[in-house]
Amino acid sequence: MSARRPVAVLLSLQAVALLLLTAAATATWWNERATVGAEVDSIQRRAREIRGQAAIAALEPYAYGSDRDPKHIVAAEEAVARARGLVDSLAQDMPAQAPAFVNMGEALADMTEVIAVMGRVSPEADLTGALNELTTARVELGSSLSVVEDASAALSRDHFDQYMQINMLLWGSLLLTMLATGLAARRGAVANDLDVEREQRQVNRGLAEALDAAVEGKPAEEGGQLRPVESFRPVYDAVTRTIALLADLRAQNLKMQRRTSFLKDIQDALSMTETEDQVMSTAYRAANQAYPAADFAMLLVDPGKGRMAAHRDEHKRPCGVTNPEQCPAVHKGRTLHHKGGDGPETLARCPHIREPGVSVSCAPVHVVGNPAAIAQLSRYQIDETGFDDLEALALAVASRLGVVRSLAERELEAGTDPLTGLANRRILNDRLAGLDSANIPYTIVLCDLDHFKRLNDSYGHDVGDKCLVTFAEVLRRACRDSDVPCRLGGEEFVLLLPGANMKAGLSVALRIRTFLAEASARIQLPYTASIGVASKPDHGNTGEAVLRAADAAMYDAKEGGRDQVVPARALPLLEAAR
Ligand code: GH3
Ligand code: MG
Ligand code: MG
Repeated sequence: MSARRPVAVLLSLQAVALLLLTAAATATWWNERATVGAEVDSIQRRAREIRGQAAIAALEPYAYGSDRDPKHIVAAEEAVARARGLVDSLAQDMPAQAPAFVNMGEALADMTEVIAVMGRVSPEADLTGALNELTTARVELGSSLSVVEDASAALSRDHFDQYMQINMLLWGSLLLTMLATGLAARRGAVANDLDVEREQRQVNRGLAEALDAAVEGKPAEEGGQLRPVESFRPVYDAVTRTIALLADLRAQNLKMQRRTSFLKDIQDALSMTETEDQVMSTAYRAANQAYPAADFAMLLVDPGKGRMAAHRDEHKRPCGVTNPEQCPAVHKGRTLHHKGGDGPETLARCPHIREPGVSVSCAPVHVVGNPAAIAQLSRYQIDETGFDDLEALALAVASRLGVVRSLAERELEAGTDPLTGLANRRILNDRLAGLDSANIPYTIVLCDLDHFKRLNDSYGHDVGDKCLVTFAEVLRRACRDSDVPCRLGGEEFVLLLPGANMKAGLSVALRIRTFLAEASARIQLPYTASIGVASKPDHGNTGEAVLRAADAAMYDAKEGGRDQVVPARALPLLEAAR
């Protein structure tokens, strides 16, 4: 599997997380916008009322100056009291603006004092000074009020700014994570793991710190008065969840990387195998590495007999299936998992599994559409993951088995005589070289059919072929499984007898002659063979020399009147001594 897929999944998930977080932040901001707006309105409305009351508190004394009616003093005092109440309520909502409220309190105190003095002095007294003082106090109140109004107007702007900051933070950190993931994918598995981990840790820390600060609220001197970002808490939670999600994804990514490299190792190991036996041994080694605690068995189908047996450790296989036809996994052509116990999921459990409590997974191995083997895993914990690995192992084994078998077939074809099915000269030479290098003695029985040209001319080429096939059967009958009957070409055959001496070779040669007599009588075609016999070390120390000696003996047989067995002549003393 390519490493690109998990990275693509990671990146898409990160993009989705980014969109979700932005949506959450926007929704939170939108919801809060109305609340913040209402609070700003309320502040500004109360500020306007304070201005109004201050105006009353200043104007009523002017009217008092004209008519000296004490009701103006009362009205002015009431206006100051109302203004004070409003100032107190505002001061509570905007603790950050405390200095402005202190000023306003002082202005109101001045106004109270001046109004009280005005009420007390004689009706003739000049009020100009007192009225001027009132105006001064009112202007001071107004300018402090302006500070508060400006601050309140900044609140909704701050709220939007905070929203934008959070967004930038989210986008920045997640884009960084995505960038790190992308870079990691480009650089390759191991090094990049560390990079992703470091980048992600940094991003996570920065994000968490920033959000902590945001949730605590801005310091008062920066103008934060309302509970400005408390409702960003869900965003904070979402980010925390995303961080956990990213950690999960990273763990999954690591697992996939490990699996990919394990499967690649299997493929590499299998690509070095040349025989079925090596393929099976590699499969066992791989399975033992992947599932050290479980039992693994490879049931091999014998192509000739159609029967099935474990490649090794027959006692470890969990089922008694002896024929691929009996195996449900082979029938269905896919991996089956049979759970242990007696839960409802065990209803479709394979009936051939011996122990009821054991969990078993079976992956069929097909080679060119035919069942070739079954990979079986048993005694694993059901929550153990990695069933896919068994299937991947079965697939890899299937593909290598196909290659190994077709190579073997091709080699067999290249080494086989198509008419008689016997080994050809190439195989004979290979076997002779093998015996020579292992220093194993052998005897060569070389046969040439007599007057074969004449036989062909008299009966036709097809009859000649039939005689060749019959002679091949004679050779096979006359020897043992470990011997190598070959057709060198034309009507010349060799029987190689590894480990045999001259005596044994001569008796085999005589047997050939007898069997040929029987066979030719049976097919009513009288033909005979001249046979020369030579051995290593009696007649040479290499295959070539012994073949030459056998050939010479065969010509002696021809000269001697054909249809006879002749042993090779003893080597001259000098040659034998070499
Ligand atoms: P000798 O007894 O001296 O060995 O005589 P011979 O006729 O057997 O020997 P020769 O070497 O003169 O002829 C061999 C003949 O074998 C010639 C050829 O027609 C025949 N022959 C070679 N290969 C085949 C084959 O594949 N099929 C058939 N039918 N005949 C073959
Ligand atoms: Mg010949
Ligand atoms: Mg001949």
